[in-house]
Amino acid sequence: MAVTLTTRLRDVVARTAPKLEKARGITTVGELLDFLPRSYLDPARPSDFATLADGEDVVLMATVKQAVTRRMRNRRGSMLIATVVDEQGGELDLTFFKPYGHEQALVPGRRVVCSGTVSSFQRRRQLTHPDYQVVGPRRLGDPGLAQALESGLVPVYTATKGVNAVQMISSVQLALHALEDVPDPVPATVRARRGLPDLLTAYWMVHQPETEAEQRKARWRLKFQEAFVIQAALAQRRMADDAVRAVPRRAAQAGLVEAFRRRLPFDLTAGQQEVLASVTADLAGDSPMHRLLQGEVGSGKTVVALLAMLTVIDGGGQAALLAPTEVLAQQHHRSITAMLGPLAEAGLLGGVERATRVALLTGSQPVAERRANLLMAASGEAGIVVGTHALIQEHVQFAELGLVVVDEQHRFGVEQRDALRAKAGDAPHVLVMTATPIPRTVAMTVYGDMEISTLRELPAGRQPITTHVVPGELASWVDRTWRRVAEEAAKGHRAYVVCPRIGEEQDPDLDAETGPGGPVAPAEGQEGKPLHGVLQVHRALQALPATSGLRIGLLHGRMAPADKEAVMGAFAAGDLDVLVATTVIEVGVDVRDATVMVVLDADRFGISQLHQLRGRVGRGDQPGLCLLMTQELDGPSQERLDAVAATTDGFVLARVDLEQRREGDVLGAAQSGGRSGLRFLRLARDEELIVGAHEDAWAVVEDDPDLVGHPALREEIARLDAERAAFLERG
Ligand code: ADP
Ligand code: MG
Repeated sequence: MAVTLTTRLRDVVARTAPKLEKARGITTVGELLDFLPRSYLDPARPSDFATLADGEDVVLMATVKQAVTRRMRNRRGSMLIATVVDEQGGELDLTFFKPYGHEQALVPGRRVVCSGTVSSFQRRRQLTHPDYQVVGPRRLGDPGLAQALESGLVPVYTATKGVNAVQMISSVQLALHALEDVPDPVPATVRARRGLPDLLTAYWMVHQPETEAEQRKARWRLKFQEAFVIQAALAQRRMADDAVRAVPRRAAQAGLVEAFRRRLPFDLTAGQQEVLASVTADLAGDSPMHRLLQGEVGSGKTVVALLAMLTVIDGGGQAALLAPTEVLAQQHHRSITAMLGPLAEAGLLGGVERATRVALLTGSQPVAERRANLLMAASGEAGIVVGTHALIQEHVQFAELGLVVVDEQHRFGVEQRDALRAKAGDAPHVLVMTATPIPRTVAMTVYGDMEISTLRELPAGRQPITTHVVPGELASWVDRTWRRVAEEAAKGHRAYVVCPRIGEEQDPDLDAETGPGGPVAPAEGQEGKPLHGVLQVHRALQALPATSGLRIGLLHGRMAPADKEAVMGAFAAGDLDVLVATTVIEVGVDVRDATVMVVLDADRFGISQLHQLRGRVGRGDQPGLCLLMTQELDGPSQERLDAVAATTDGFVLARVDLEQRREGDVLGAAQSGGRSGLRFLRLARDEELIVGAHEDAWAVVEDDPDLVGHPALREEIARLDAERAAFLERG
C-alpha cells in the first residue's frame, strides 16, 4: 500500500495512533505531519538547567556524568541515580527506582535526550523515571529515530497524553519514512519562483532539520501553502460569481438618484463619493456586484447604500435591505423613509412623480400589515424592502430583485447570500456593510472574493468621544459616574448603561450608597465571577439618590419584540433618560441626544465590541463620554480597556484585537480541538506572505480556472471546502 498524506495513521504507527487520535484528533499521516514541533534541541548545545522550575514538563539534551546504583534505605531493592550535566556544568539527577537496563544505557560520557517533570529532592533538581533516548554511537532499534537524534536538531513536540517525547519523534519519523507519494498543492512554477521546497521536503525539513534556518524555511512554506490554497479557493469562487449574469442598473435621467441628491442637506464626503463611484460602476456591470463597505459607525455608509438602492430602482429593479435585528430593521425603515420624504410616497397624496415606496417586514407585525407589505414587495410597488435576514429570505417574493444590501455582515453567511441569489432569475448585486473595521489580512483571507471599499473619515462636525476606565474599587469614582449621568440627563441628554448579563428579578441588591460598578454579590446558581445584571442595575439606579429622579428604562433580549421597540422608541423620543441594557444596543441604534455610556464589567467585553458600543454616543452635536467600569485592573483585560480608552481609531483597535485573539475567533469558526480555522497562518503577523500567496494564487486560477493542470491544488481546495465549511461560512 502506498502511504500518502491521507493514509490512516493507525496503518502506519499502530502504537501511538489511538492516543494521538484521542488527545489531538489526529487521524491521518498528513495531520500528524501538520503537528509541528514546539521547539528544537541542539545536541551541540546542551540545555541550561539553571532555568528549570519545579513542576515544569521538559525535554532536555544532556551528557551523563555518573550513574550510581544504591540500595534503598526503607525499601527492598535498589535505585539508580544518573547525574547529567548541561554545558555550564549544572547538574540534574535522573532517578529510577527500578534500575534494570538503565545502567547499561546511561554510561558516563553519553549524550541523552530526556523528558519528564522537574521536581526537587534534598535541594537537587531531578526527573523521576524520565523517558530518555541515548544519542550518538549506540545503535538504536529504530533507524529513523536514531537518524533524527544523531543529525541536526531534535524536535520537541507539545506533550500529548500517553505519548512520550521520544515516542512522538519516533512516530513522526515512521510516517516520514513511509511516505511515498506526496502531491504538492503549490505548483512547481510558483515554488521555483519563490525558491520553496516541495511539500515532502518541507515536512522533512521541519520535523528533522539540520539547521535553524532550514526549519524556518519549511514553516514559511507550510504557511504559504495554507494561504495559497485559501486564496485559490476564493479566486475560484470569485470567477464562478463573475460568470453569473446580473442585470446592469443605472441611474435614470431626472430619476430618483438625482432627486434624492438634491434633497440631501449635506455634500457627500470625498470618501463617500469615491465609494459611490465604485458601487455605481459595479451596478452598471452585467455580473453581480460583491462589495464589502466598511466604515466606522456614523461614517455615512447608509447614505451610500441608499444611493445604490435608488440607482437600482431607477434601473427598473428593487432593493432589499437586511438588518440583523428587528429593532435595526425598524430603525432603517424609519430613517430611510424620513430621508426620502416625498420620494417614498408613490401613489400617496404629496408623493412626487417617479417616487417609490419603502416596505417593512418584521416578525412582530400584525398579519394584515405584513400582508400589505408582502404585496408591495411582490408587485414591485415597493422599490425598497427592509427587514430582518430571516424574514426576507424565507417569505418574500420580489417582482424584480436587483440589489441586496446587508447591514452588519458578521451575521450573514455565504449560504444566505446564495439562497437570496437563488430567488431571482438573474443574480442580484450584493453590498455588505460593516462597522467592524477589518484588518487587511482578515479581509483578504475571509472576504477575498469580494471587492472592499473603506470609508476612513467621519463626516465633518462629528463630535469626539472621550473614554475613561473607572476602577470599581474606588467608591468615589463610581459615585461620580452616576452623578455625571444625572448631570447629562438634567441637560436633556440621555445615557446608556450596558451590563454583561440580564440576570433575574431575585438577584441580590447592589450597594445602595455609591451605585452599580462596585463589587457584586453572586446571584443564586451563578457560577464564576459575579457580574452586574440588567434587572438588578435597573433596580439599583431607581433607588440610588443621584439617579432616583430619572426616568430609567430597560432593554434586553428576553423581551418581546414589541416591548423592545416601545422602549427603544421611548428612549429615542426622550421619554426615558437612562436605558439599562445588554449588548442588544450594540449595532446601529441611533439616538442623537445620547451623550453618556456606562459599561459595567467592561473587562467582560472584547475590544471591537466596546468600540462598537461606544459608537452609540456622540452621534449628534454633543461630545460623547464613555465610562468603562471594571473590577479587574490587571493583566490582558487592563490592556484591552486601556487600548480602547487610548484611541477611537477602529483600525488601530482591530489590529490590537487581532493580536490578542486566537485566529479561530477572528474567523468566527468553531474551535473544536484547533482543527477548524487556520493551521499555520497568523493573520496578525503574516501580511506580506498572504499578499504574496494572493497574487500567485489568483494568477494560477485566472490561467486555469478549473485547475485542470493542478489536480493536487484542486483536491486540497475540495478538502478545505469540506473540512472547513465553517471557516468560509463567515459565521
Ligand atoms: P453609518 O451607516 O456609517 O453608521 P450613516 O450613513 O447612518 O452612517 O450616517 C450617520 C449620520 O451622518 C447620519 O445622520 C447621516 O445623515 C449623516 N451623514 C452622512 N453623510 C454625511 C455627510 N457627507 N455630511 C454630513 N453628514 C452626513
Ligand atoms: Mg448605519
